[in-house]
Amino acid sequence: MALRLFRCSDCGHRMRFFGAACGNCFTRKPAFMRGEVLVVIVAAVGLLFLLL
Ligand SMILES: [Zn+2]
Repeated sequence: MALRLFRCSDCGHRMRFFGAACGNCFTRKPAFMRGEVLVVIVAAVGLLFLLL
């Protein structure tokens, strides 16, 4: 099951959480909409808790 949280700003297609572009019109997503960014943030916070 894919997470589809965002709508494409161009065509309104519900985009997958992961992936760099809209699956319908292939417009590139803004960086903050990309799941990879969230994964990096979560990993960084997790590392901080491990160090404390
Ligand atoms: Zn689109």
